[in-house]
Amino acid sequence: MEGKKIEWKERTLSVLYPRRCPVCHEIVSPVGRLICPDCEKKVSFVKEPTCLRCGKEIAAAEIEYCYDCSRQERSFVGGVALAVYNDVMRASIRQFKNKGRIEYADWYAKALWERYGEQLKRLKPDALVPVPVHRSRRSERGYNQAQELARRLAKYMGIPVWPGALVRRKKTVAQKYLGLGERERNLEGAFGPGRQPVKGAAVFLVDDIYTTGNTAQACTRVLLEAGAESVFLVNVCIGENDG
Ligand SMILES: [Zn+2]
Ligand SMILES: [Zn+2]
Repeated sequence: MEGKKIEWKERTLSVLYPRRCPVCHEIVSPVGRLICPDCEKKVSFVKEPTCLRCGKEIAAAEIEYCYDCSRQERSFVGGVALAVYNDVMRASIRQFKNKGRIEYADWYAKALWERYGEQLKRLKPDALVPVPVHRSRRSERGYNQAQELARRLAKYMGIPVWPGALVRRKKTVAQKYLGLGERERNLEGAFGPGRQPVKGAAVFLVDDIYTTGNTAQACTRVLLEAGAESVFLVNVCIGENDG
Protein backbone atom coordinates (compact mmCIF):
# COMPACT_ATOMS: atom_id res chain seq x y z
CA MET A 1 0.00 0.00 0.00
CA GLU A 2 2.76 2.42 1.03
CA GLY A 3 4.71 1.63 -2.13
CA LYS A 4 1.68 2.34 -4.28
CA LYS A 5 1.15 5.65 -2.53
CA ILE A 6 4.76 6.71 -3.09
CA GLU A 7 4.63 5.65 -6.71
CA TRP A 8 1.45 7.61 -7.21
CA LYS A 9 2.95 10.64 -5.50
CA GLU A 10 6.07 10.49 -7.67
CA ARG A 11 4.04 10.15 -10.82
CA THR A 12 1.89 13.11 -9.86
CA LEU A 13 4.97 15.15 -9.00
CA SER A 14 6.67 14.29 -12.26
CA VAL A 15 3.60 15.43 -14.16
CA LEU A 16 3.42 18.67 -12.22
CA TYR A 17 7.17 19.29 -12.18
CA PRO A 18 8.70 17.28 -15.00
CA ARG A 19 12.34 16.56 -14.32
CA ARG A 20 14.82 17.85 -16.83
CA CYS A 21 17.80 15.97 -18.17
CA PRO A 22 21.25 17.28 -17.16
CA VAL A 23 22.53 16.74 -20.70
CA CYS A 24 19.77 17.63 -23.23
CA HIS A 25 17.91 19.90 -20.75
CA GLU A 26 14.57 18.57 -22.04
CA ILE A 27 12.09 16.56 -19.99
CA VAL A 28 13.77 13.26 -19.09
CA SER A 29 12.52 10.30 -21.03
CA PRO A 30 11.47 7.79 -19.84
CA VAL A 31 9.77 9.44 -16.88
CA GLY A 32 11.17 8.41 -13.51
CA ARG A 33 14.83 8.50 -14.55
CA LEU A 34 17.34 11.22 -13.64
CA ILE A 35 18.93 11.33 -17.10
CA CYS A 36 17.88 10.05 -20.55
CA PRO A 37 19.71 6.78 -21.29
CA ASP A 38 20.97 8.12 -24.62
CA CYS A 39 22.19 11.34 -23.03
CA GLU A 40 24.11 9.42 -20.40
CA LYS A 41 26.19 7.92 -23.23
CA LYS A 42 27.29 11.41 -24.25
CA VAL A 43 28.98 12.04 -20.90
CA SER A 44 32.72 11.42 -20.87
CA PHE A 45 33.11 9.68 -17.53
CA VAL A 46 36.59 9.92 -16.02
CA LYS A 47 38.64 6.86 -16.99
CA GLU A 48 41.76 5.30 -15.52
CA PRO A 49 44.63 6.05 -15.39
CA THR A 50 44.07 9.10 -13.24
CA CYS A 51 46.28 11.48 -11.29
CA LEU A 52 47.02 10.01 -7.86
CA ARG A 53 46.36 13.39 -6.30
CA CYS A 54 43.39 15.09 -7.95
CA GLY A 55 41.78 12.30 -9.99
CA LYS A 56 42.24 13.96 -13.40
CA GLU A 57 42.77 11.65 -16.38
CA ILE A 58 46.44 11.22 -17.29
CA ALA A 59 48.05 9.73 -20.40
CA ALA A 60 49.79 6.80 -18.68
CA ALA A 61 49.77 5.30 -15.21
CA GLU A 62 53.56 5.67 -14.89
CA ILE A 63 53.26 9.44 -14.91
CA GLU A 64 51.31 9.18 -11.62
CA TYR A 65 50.49 12.91 -11.38
CA CYS A 66 48.89 15.39 -13.77
CA TYR A 67 50.73 18.46 -14.99
CA ASP A 68 49.44 20.77 -12.25
CA CYS A 69 49.81 18.32 -9.37
CA SER A 70 53.38 17.49 -10.31
CA ARG A 71 54.36 21.18 -10.19
CA GLN A 72 52.30 22.72 -7.46
CA GLU A 73 51.85 22.31 -3.77
CA ARG A 74 49.06 19.88 -2.96
CA SER A 75 47.84 19.27 0.57
CA PHE A 76 44.76 17.16 -0.16
CA VAL A 77 45.33 13.41 0.03
CA GLY A 78 43.43 12.51 -3.14
CA GLY A 79 40.31 13.06 -5.13
CA VAL A 80 37.69 11.68 -7.45
CA ALA A 81 35.65 13.30 -10.21
CA LEU A 82 32.72 12.05 -12.21
CA ALA A 83 33.18 13.47 -15.69
CA VAL A 84 35.54 15.36 -17.95
CA TYR A 85 34.72 19.06 -18.15
CA ASN A 86 33.97 19.14 -21.89
CA ASP A 87 31.20 20.93 -23.82
CA VAL A 88 28.48 18.56 -22.62
CA MET A 89 29.31 19.03 -18.96
CA ARG A 90 30.08 22.72 -19.34
CA ALA A 91 26.51 23.27 -20.56
CA SER A 92 25.14 21.04 -17.81
CA ILE A 93 26.98 22.86 -15.02
CA ARG A 94 26.03 26.25 -16.45
CA GLN A 95 22.35 25.36 -16.20
CA PHE A 96 22.82 23.81 -12.77
CA LYS A 97 24.58 26.87 -11.46
CA ASN A 98 22.95 29.78 -13.18
CA LYS A 99 19.56 28.60 -14.38
CA GLY A 100 18.20 27.12 -11.21
CA ARG A 101 18.41 23.50 -12.35
CA ILE A 102 19.17 22.26 -8.86
CA GLU A 103 17.62 18.90 -9.73
CA TYR A 104 20.71 18.08 -11.80
CA ALA A 105 22.50 17.53 -8.50
CA ASP A 106 20.34 14.44 -7.99
CA TRP A 107 21.96 12.76 -10.96
CA TYR A 108 25.47 14.09 -10.24
CA ALA A 109 25.34 12.74 -6.69
CA LYS A 110 23.83 9.41 -7.66
CA ALA A 111 26.36 8.86 -10.45
CA LEU A 112 29.25 9.78 -8.15
CA TRP A 113 27.94 7.37 -5.58
CA GLU A 114 27.51 4.53 -8.06
CA ARG A 115 31.05 4.92 -9.32
CA TYR A 116 32.93 5.73 -6.16
CA GLY A 117 30.68 4.78 -3.25
CA GLU A 118 32.81 1.85 -2.09
CA GLN A 119 36.04 3.82 -2.31
CA LEU A 120 34.53 6.80 -0.52
CA LYS A 121 33.13 4.68 2.32
CA ARG A 122 36.53 3.09 2.91
CA LEU A 123 37.99 6.53 3.58
CA LYS A 124 35.63 6.87 6.56
CA PRO A 125 35.02 10.61 6.28
CA ASP A 126 33.47 12.51 9.16
CA ALA A 127 31.72 15.14 7.06
CA LEU A 128 31.31 16.79 3.67
CA VAL A 129 32.43 20.39 3.29
CA PRO A 130 31.11 22.33 0.26
CA VAL A 131 33.35 24.97 -1.30
CA PRO A 132 31.58 28.18 -0.27
CA VAL A 133 30.46 30.85 -2.70
CA HIS A 134 30.53 34.54 -1.88
CA ARG A 135 27.31 35.69 -0.24
CA SER A 136 26.56 38.11 -3.06
CA ARG A 137 26.72 35.25 -5.60
CA ARG A 138 24.64 33.12 -3.31
CA SER A 139 21.92 35.70 -3.04
CA GLU A 140 21.83 36.20 -6.82
CA ARG A 141 21.45 32.47 -7.31
CA GLY A 142 19.59 31.58 -4.17
CA TYR A 143 21.76 28.55 -3.51
CA ASN A 144 25.30 27.30 -3.34
CA GLN A 145 25.64 24.59 -5.96
CA ALA A 146 28.41 22.79 -4.04
CA GLN A 147 26.23 22.65 -0.95
CA GLU A 148 23.34 21.17 -2.93
CA LEU A 149 25.67 18.45 -4.12
CA ALA A 150 27.11 17.83 -0.68
CA ARG A 151 23.62 17.49 0.80
CA ARG A 152 22.69 14.79 -1.67
CA LEU A 153 25.95 12.92 -1.27
CA ALA A 154 25.60 13.11 2.49
CA LYS A 155 22.34 11.18 2.25
CA TYR A 156 24.07 8.31 0.48
CA MET A 157 26.98 8.38 2.89
CA GLY A 158 25.08 8.88 6.11
CA ILE A 159 27.40 11.66 7.31
CA PRO A 160 26.76 15.35 7.98
CA VAL A 161 27.41 18.36 5.76
CA TRP A 162 29.41 21.16 7.36
CA PRO A 163 28.61 24.27 5.35
CA GLY A 164 30.02 26.31 8.21
CA ALA A 165 33.51 24.86 8.04
CA LEU A 166 34.71 27.39 5.47
CA VAL A 167 33.76 30.96 4.66
CA ARG A 168 34.35 32.89 1.48
CA ARG A 169 35.78 36.24 2.35
CA LYS A 170 36.41 37.58 -1.08
CA LYS A 171 34.53 37.57 -4.32
CA THR A 172 37.09 36.25 -6.76
CA VAL A 173 37.38 36.54 -10.52
CA ALA A 174 36.88 33.24 -12.37
CA GLN A 175 40.33 31.66 -12.42
CA LYS A 176 40.17 30.86 -16.13
CA TYR A 177 40.52 34.55 -17.01
CA LEU A 178 43.78 34.92 -15.14
CA GLY A 179 47.45 34.10 -15.63
CA LEU A 180 49.31 31.83 -13.23
CA GLY A 181 50.63 34.48 -10.86
CA GLU A 182 47.33 36.33 -10.84
CA ARG A 183 45.50 33.14 -9.98
CA GLU A 184 47.36 32.73 -6.75
CA ARG A 185 46.89 36.37 -5.78
CA ASN A 186 43.21 36.15 -6.69
CA LEU A 187 42.70 33.35 -4.17
CA GLU A 188 44.90 34.77 -1.44
CA GLY A 189 42.75 35.13 1.63
CA ALA A 190 39.65 34.20 -0.39
CA PHE A 191 38.72 31.49 2.11
CA GLY A 192 38.83 31.38 5.86
CA PRO A 193 37.79 29.07 8.67
CA GLY A 194 34.14 29.17 9.68
CA ARG A 195 32.42 28.47 12.98
CA GLN A 196 32.15 24.74 12.48
CA PRO A 197 35.08 23.04 14.27
CA VAL A 198 36.97 20.58 12.07
CA LYS A 199 39.69 19.50 14.48
CA GLY A 200 40.73 15.89 13.92
CA ALA A 201 38.16 15.35 11.18
CA ALA A 202 38.62 13.60 7.85
CA VAL A 203 36.64 15.72 5.42
CA PHE A 204 35.53 15.51 1.82
CA LEU A 205 35.73 18.84 0.04
CA VAL A 206 32.87 19.01 -2.48
CA ASP A 207 32.70 21.20 -5.59
CA ASP A 208 31.13 21.21 -9.04
CA ILE A 209 34.28 21.84 -11.08
CA TYR A 210 37.98 21.23 -10.61
CA THR A 211 40.31 22.82 -13.14
CA THR A 212 43.69 24.08 -11.94
CA GLY A 213 43.25 22.88 -8.38
CA ASN A 214 44.00 26.31 -6.90
CA THR A 215 40.61 26.67 -5.24
CA ALA A 216 40.76 23.16 -3.80
CA GLN A 217 44.27 23.81 -2.52
CA ALA A 218 43.29 27.14 -0.93
CA CYS A 219 40.33 25.50 0.86
CA THR A 220 42.42 22.51 1.91
CA ARG A 221 45.04 24.76 3.44
CA VAL A 222 42.43 26.55 5.56
CA LEU A 223 40.87 23.26 6.70
CA LEU A 224 44.23 21.77 7.67
CA GLU A 225 45.25 24.93 9.52
CA ALA A 226 41.97 24.69 11.41
CA GLY A 227 43.00 21.20 12.53
CA ALA A 228 41.34 18.87 10.03
CA GLU A 229 43.15 15.56 9.83
CA SER A 230 42.80 15.09 6.08
CA VAL A 231 41.03 16.50 3.05
CA PHE A 232 39.87 14.42 0.08
CA LEU A 233 38.19 15.96 -3.00
CA VAL A 234 34.90 15.01 -4.58
CA ASN A 235 34.11 16.88 -7.80
CA VAL A 236 31.47 16.50 -10.47
CA CYS A 237 33.70 17.72 -13.31
CA ILE A 238 37.42 17.82 -13.80
CA GLY A 239 39.52 19.51 -16.48
CA GLU A 240 40.74 17.52 -19.46
CA ASN A 241 44.04 15.74 -19.44
CA ASP A 242 46.58 18.46 -20.20
CA GLY A 243 49.73 16.48 -19.51
ZN1 LIG B 1 18.42 13.97 -22.18
ZN1 LIG C 1 46.33 16.04 -10.48
